[in-house]
Amino acid sequence: MNQHTDAQPKRLLLKLSGEALSSPTCADTIDSTLVDQLAAEIAASVSELGLELGIVVGGGNIWRGDRGAGKGVERSASDAMGMLATVINAIALQDSIERFGRPTRVMTAVQMAQVAEPYIRRRAIRHLEKGRVIILAGGMGNPYFTTDTSAALRAAEIGAAMLLKGTHSGVDGVYSADPRGDPSAVRYARLSFMDLLNRDLRVMDMTAVTFCKDNDLPVLVFELSVPGNLQKAFAGDEIGTLIK
Ligand code: UDP
Repeated sequence: MNQHTDAQPKRLLLKLSGEALSSPTCADTIDSTLVDQLAAEIAASVSELGLELGIVVGGGNIWRGDRGAGKGVERSASDAMGMLATVINAIALQDSIERFGRPTRVMTAVQMAQVAEPYIRRRAIRHLEKGRVIILAGGMGNPYFTTDTSAALRAAEIGAAMLLKGTHSGVDGVYSADPRGDPSAVRYARLSFMDLLNRDLRVMDMTAVTFCKDNDLPVLVFELSVPGNLQKAFAGDEIGTLIK
């Protein structure tokens, strides 16, 4: 069954965590082989499925404002570092997606005209209509937020039918308990936002979940690192967990 059939399939927003661009087998912060694999799948899927695609990219492979080394730095400054980290990832992704033949635009919430366009909603939509993948960086431009929340906001702003949240934890959706520690855990194919909140299942940050719930924005949580899964998620095949 196609999971997108009751929502318009064409315009989608993909949230990629910074960690999706790095791997334990590569010493560099960005694993270019991994980025190329993702980019190839993205470029091919956009063409084959006729998608309009926005991507919000995180920065956690480089810096997170409230965790790790970021903890010792004043929060707003640390978050500024995190937002800039997302721009580095966005440019890496842009370079790779374009090498696979799909035009892109990086748009940032923090202005830096020499490297990317400022995010302007109408301009972003125009790029989508022209077949360009838009890569949205800098989160929302405000500290104390995450790129999950930015992804939810941008998905609503551009009128995306669905927010696709790719994970890279080896867990292919939302489970009743952590399947890595509890063999009796079961994967939910579908879940309501209320159930997600009531059961305190942590798949995205709670601000993002509440935003999606309040704005009727379906979220598909799926495992990104399995080759072919991105295309399946874009096509509306039944994988992962659909939250609506
Ligand atoms: N960030 C921010 N405002 C935003 C989005 C992100 O301040 O609107 C900062 C925050 O410090 C965050 C970092 O950027 O920790 C990287 O984003 P995130 O942790 O969401 O990246 P991901 O976990 O998706 O790689």
